[in-house]
Amino acid sequence: MPKKIIAGNWKMNKSHDEGTKLVSEITRLINGDVFSDIQIVIAPPFIHLYSIGKLIGTQTKISLGAQNCYSKSSGAYTGEVSAAMLKSVGVQYVILGHSERREHFKESNEFLKEKIDIVLEYDLKPIFCCGETLDQREKGSHIDFVCNQITGSLFHLSPEQFSNIVIAYEPIWAIGTGKNATSRQAQEMHKAIRGHIAQKFDSHIAESTTILYGGSCKPDNAKELFACPDVDGGLIGGASLNAKDFVEIVKSL
Ligand code: PEP
Repeated sequence: MPKKIIAGNWKMNKSHDEGTKLVSEITRLINGDVFSDIQIVIAPPFIHLYSIGKLIGTQTKISLGAQNCYSKSSGAYTGEVSAAMLKSVGVQYVILGHSERREHFKESNEFLKEKIDIVLEYDLKPIFCCGETLDQREKGSHIDFVCNQITGSLFHLSPEQFSNIVIAYEPIWAIGTGKNATSRQAQEMHKAIRGHIAQKFDSHIAESTTILYGGSCKPDNAKELFACPDVDGGLIGGASLNAKDFVEIVKSL
């Protein structure tokens, strides 16, 4: 798995036509550019996955990502989508534990642990989101809080399993607010996350883990954030809905 990743999380945006047009535009803009060490991931809504997968089929630069999946492999779970189904349409990455899912759908660290397990069982790569509230940051408990999220959902894994995990640090106060973390704040947290992983596993695993930054990352701040030694790329929300902005962010990395 390449260490550097830019992933676009479309959330609940774009009609089918708009989504396919956006991907066509992104592929047109990156065509010819060689991003040999960067993996680009596009995570559209479930309903667009199949056709977007077909569109990017021959584009090795872009991988298909899902924004969520259920913790069971199949059965009577009306409205849910399984890891097996995602795999069957070519999905490679699955975003888990986004703060919007934690908030609106009450997803706990314990529940996310089950989702992580099923996603790994199907050879998909989880992009595990973590991040603190503004209140936690102001109280100085942000690092402990984020490390606890990681411990609670990921530290039951074996080193081999853990090597398939991508972490996305996304301070909640920066998501969709236009107020990104400063590069100093991002670096401090990413370094702490890497140290936490080294304590549990070892420094080699910690060094090779991809840790993305997410939260109001835009073309005008991406370069500075990606210059931090422990920031390996970004999970991009709003700016991934615009092909030019998204590709600009990829180029910043
Ligand atoms: C996100 O939701 O993962 C995100 C980073 O959003 P935004 O870039 O819009 O802040």
